Amino acid sequence: MLDFTYVAQPSRVVFAKGSLASVASEVEALGCSRALVLCTPPQRDQAEAVAKLLGPLSAGVFDGAQMHVPIENARKAREHAAEVGADCCIAIGGGSTVGLGKAIAMESPLPIIAIPTTYAGSEMTPVYGITENGVKRTGKDPAVLPKTVLYDPDLSSTLPVGMSIVSGMNAIAHAAEGLYARDGNPVMSLLAEEGIRALAKGMKGIVVTADDAEARGDCLYGAWLCGTVLGHVGMALHHKLCHTLGGSFNLPHAETHTIVLPHALAYNAPAAPEAMARIARAIGAEDGPLGLHELAKQLGAPTALKDLGVEEKDLDKACEIALSNPYWNPRPIEAAPLRALLQRAWEGAPPA
Ligand code: NAD
Repeated sequence: MLDFTYVAQPSRVVFAKGSLASVASEVEALGCSRALVLCTPPQRDQAEAVAKLLGPLSAGVFDGAQMHVPIENARKAREHAAEVGADCCIAIGGGSTVGLGKAIAMESPLPIIAIPTTYAGSEMTPVYGITENGVKRTGKDPAVLPKTVLYDPDLSSTLPVGMSIVSGMNAIAHAAEGLYARDGNPVMSLLAEEGIRALAKGMKGIVVTADDAEARGDCLYGAWLCGTVLGHVGMALHHKLCHTLGGSFNLPHAETHTIVLPHALAYNAPAAPEAMARIARAIGAEDGPLGLHELAKQLGAPTALKDLGVEEKDLDKACEIALSNPYWNPRPIEAAPLRALLQRAWEGAPPA
């Protein structure tokens, strides 16, 4: 007998090729009339195109989004939003840009319309992160959950193949950990398995033809499902380990997830056999963790922490930091197997 509590996170999701064109009506549907468009500097052109579509509903473009949301950028963005009299924000980009929108929404009640162009999934979660003095603080607040999400597969087709694959693996990580979450439920498990399946299929298509519309659509659909799982249930060893490694050694977010995932799953496999079976089924492999390692290799993704610049001598320290902050995990976290996990992830060896 399965016991669970399911609480839905309310948001409006519009998923369609070309849905960007409806951005003005989505602003009006929220009762807003001055939308500030947020982006990173390289995505300025895409943001300008959104501002043009908005016409008189645009309050301009702010291109100060940056990885890990430095507090200084969040402050500048909040000041700018107040100066131009914005009554909502449109975040076009990946997790960093959605993160900046959330940083604004934390302090002022501006609703967010998210237009994701990667597969990170932040648009479906009430989780925010802000970095101050080199430390990333994360928390949950329903006020930062985007009110509307426009998924337009055309927009992700400009994401370079290498970034698309690591971003897709990052999304799979949310679903994989959602399958053994302490607060998991059957609805999220269905979404998780389907999200992994869609992403694995889509990523195989993208490496053949980068702008294959169907493959891009599959990946974005998978990203939505995996992001939804991340927004509804708690994560465990894999996400905590990536957070620790990323923060301590300044590693790129999606690449770190891609490398660590098969190893973290192998660690948890004895305590979560049903989750592993569902992952294996979703990717068409005999074994979930090994299948994901093989999939990453097949797609040309990085598989070794040493290739991200981590030095072998840092692994003891990484292990120590990961052990210093206890958290729930399906299998107890112990020093020796954790250190062995890190060694294999560093070498790029198959998970065991
Ligand atoms: P990102 O947002 O940092 O984007 C990486 C780079 O790719 C940026 O320069 C961006 O402008 C560019 N880019 C994005 N889409 C593009 C496209 N279609 N074409 C060309 N270039 C494009 O990377 P990300 O992996 O999406 O997000 C990572 C960040 O999001 C991390 O800080 C992570 O912690 C956070 N995150 C938060 C949550 C949450 O729930 N709060 C969930 C997932 C990720």
